[in-house]
Amino acid sequence: MTHSPPVAAGDIVAAAAEVAEELFAGAAARDAAASFPDDAFALLHAAALMMAPFPARLGGAGLVEPDAAGALCHVLRAIGGGDLSVGRLYEGHVNAVALVARYGTPKQLAALADDVRAGAMSGVWNAEGALPATLERDGAGWRLRGAKILASGVGSVTRPLVPVARGEATVMTIPHLGAGERADLSRWTAQGMRSTCTGTVDLEGLPVGPGQVIGGDDDYRRQPNFFGGAWRFCAVQLGAVERLLDLYRADLNRLGRGAHPYQRQRIAACATAAETAALWVEQAARTVAAEARPAAEVLAYVGLARGVTERAGLDVVEAVHRGLGLNSFMRPHPAERVARDLATYLRQPAPDGAMADAAAAVLAAPAPARTLWRDA
Ligand SMILES: Cc1cc2nc3c(=O)[nH]c(=O)nc-3n(C[C@H](O)[C@H](O)[C@H](O)COP(=O)(O)OP(=O)(O)OC[C@H]3O[C@@H](n4cnc5c(N)ncnc54)[C@H](O)[C@@H]3O)c2cc1C
Repeated sequence: MTHSPPVAAGDIVAAAAEVAEELFAGAAARDAAASFPDDAFALLHAAALMMAPFPARLGGAGLVEPDAAGALCHVLRAIGGGDLSVGRLYEGHVNAVALVARYGTPKQLAALADDVRAGAMSGVWNAEGALPATLERDGAGWRLRGAKILASGVGSVTRPLVPVARGEATVMTIPHLGAGERADLSRWTAQGMRSTCTGTVDLEGLPVGPGQVIGGDDDYRRQPNFFGGAWRFCAVQLGAVERLLDLYRADLNRLGRGAHPYQRQRIAACATAAETAALWVEQAARTVAAEARPAAEVLAYVGLARGVTERAGLDVVEAVHRGLGLNSFMRPHPAERVARDLATYLRQPAPDGAMADAAAAVLAAPAPARTLWRDA
């Protein structure tokens, strides 16, 4: 098998910045269509971004390797700023490749790379509904039972990574799905993130060969990477926060309203919020990648970074609505869509729990505050 030549992580960052503007130009049409963004993923494939998470030996840019955490953060931010729905889908793809790279065999990673090179994409479908997904023995192989809910890209993501219960443990599987198969989008009526096509997938009876079970029992939940990976969705959200700031100041400049002291106060607050979130998210990415600090500390840092990013998003949405007024609620003003997408995507699992666990870790830490997250 011949692969395309490997791409450097720096080139991928530049490619993502370029693609982001093309994504932004098409985002209104994708939102209106509320269908899977095939056009956007054609762009990401063409720019080598779909292969980028894979190692160089498989034709990627090693974007999920520890020394590329900063580059991955830039890429997720850029794509999220281009189109938040596309960013969400891309983050799922990156997460799946990272899990296979960490816990799968070289053969499994190469097989996924072959499929992605041929045009497929992955994602992680973990959310559970009334019919929990399980893996049951079927002769020499296995079969899936049940369903997953809130699965982004159902009907289009054909190589999803699906964590399922096997007895008391959780194992990761990569079932092979055909386009349009087993997908139910009837309940995806969210106000934003429409083109993520987030729906239910019926897994009942799907065969899973031995080569499609990734890693061992409970590898999926292994910390600090399980919760620590939340920095990636924060990076995608941050892209939208930064886009809103860009849209806000462009309008103020265009309308000649930038000199007003209250507008300036709001712009200062938005710039501070965006930069604060950026500093936290970048540091969270580095801290998780370094694997050098105790797990409790890493998880606490990422938990707090989630709160900082959420606060930045909520504050910037409010400031833009107050600063641009009714116009920012009117289609086709792009701030209308970006704010709607961001408000939806800010809803992530158990935010109170993440904050409370981080607080408990801070309470229990013996170090003085100035050395809580770094050596003296
Ligand atoms: C656009 C989009 C795409 C998504 N795509 C995927 C996907 O591809 N794969 C996937 O697996 N998932 C996906 N999800 C689902 C996502 O991972 C979360 O499951 C979902 O966003 C949870 O949101 P929630 O607000 O209902 O969370 P919840 O955790 O239910 O939080 C809602 C509120 O309840 C509180 N709360 C939580 N637990 C408790 C408790 N035990 N007691 C009291 N209060 C509690 C929280 O702190 C919060 O205040 C997606 C979500 C979105 C928005």
